[in-house]
Amino acid sequence: MDVTIAQIGNVLTRASGYLKPVCSHSLQPYRGCSFGRSLCGVGCYVRHNGHVLRGREWGTFLEVRANAADSYRRHVDRERRWAHGRGGCFSIFLSSATEPFPPQEASAGVTRSVLEAMHESPPDELILQTHSPAVTRAIDVIEPLSRKCRLRVHMSIESDRDRLPGLAPPASRVEERFEACAALKEAGVRTVVTVSPLFPIADPEAFFERVAACADAVVLDHFIGGDGSPDGGRTRRTAVPEAMARVDPSSTALEYRDRMAKVAERRMPGRVGIGAAGFAGRYGRG
Ligand code: SF4
Repeated sequence: MDVTIAQIGNVLTRASGYLKPVCSHSLQPYRGCSFGRSLCGVGCYVRHNGHVLRGREWGTFLEVRANAADSYRRHVDRERRWAHGRGGCFSIFLSSATEPFPPQEASAGVTRSVLEAMHESPPDELILQTHSPAVTRAIDVIEPLSRKCRLRVHMSIESDRDRLPGLAPPASRVEERFEACAALKEAGVRTVVTVSPLFPIADPEAFFERVAACADAVVLDHFIGGDGSPDGGRTRRTAVPEAMARVDPSSTALEYRDRMAKVAERRMPGRVGIGAAGFAGRYGRG
């Protein structure tokens, strides 16, 4: 992993594409991702972004945006005005193109410093999207921030399976991520499991029962409609659909998402979100 220090101009990026109905801004404390060569990285949509890659292989580089907190402080008032001027709320998605709690966060502390800056000038809404149980190391800044703005942690748990055949292992085990959700919820932090992209689930009833026990809501997103291409074409260019089909051929069709959503809705009535609406915090469609 090539880790470098970088300076960012404006760390608050105005939302576009898939994120537009979800938030007003995204915020990436890092560029690149330490988990890019793990299971989630195989189908990760950022691996197709030439602007981010600049000729590099996904999962081999991490730029540490050391001045991210200072940049937030410098730009927050202007970006808040911009969001409010459009009639919406100032809502930040942290992060959409990197992992905010990679192993390097333990020493670099960029995400932590951004959260501390938000204490001084909070957004209206903060969505912390992670694949990492290391998010619990920041509970001491997350929980008090959740009393200053509408904050929820989105924990990605794509299935009850740790592995898909032929693909890399995950960056962390499913069980560790469930435990992190339980710790967040116990601390009073609103917690949502994002089953995204939805992988074949071995025992759907038990899986969603577990989700119901440790999260406030669940969001299901299939690679069809969820990977930023109209028909899942981006993901079809990766090894993910074939691995999914080897486990359960029905899982590569959109109907699989609707079938799983029905199971989730039975376990968590009114707390199931689908696709971008779910990421935006709108639940209630089974
Ligand atoms: S953690 Fe997120 S950004 Fe990083 S590889 Fe996995 S899906 Fe992509």
